[in-house]
Amino acid sequence: MSYKIDFDADKCIGCGQCVDICPVSVWEMQDGKSNPVNAEECLGCESCSGVCEQGAIAIVED
Ligand code: SF4
Ligand code: SF4
Repeated sequence: MSYKIDFDADKCIGCGQCVDICPVSVWEMQDGKSNPVNAEECLGCESCSGVCEQGAIAIVED
């Protein structure tokens, strides 16, 4: 099973919570916003989408 990260950068306020919570370091801060730079590592745990209060992240099965 693989997962696709649906990320809306316009909603991201750069709080960094997704960076801190992801167990496989998918997210990195770049220019004040998070970015899924290691998206291929995603386990589909939905921790990042759950912690993002801006609703900027959705995880979908690919
Ligand atoms: S948790 Fe949401 S708002 Fe915060 S850095 Fe991540 S994507 Fe952006
Ligand atoms: S769903 Fe889990 S593994 Fe995938 S990016 Fe979010 S926190 Fe990381």
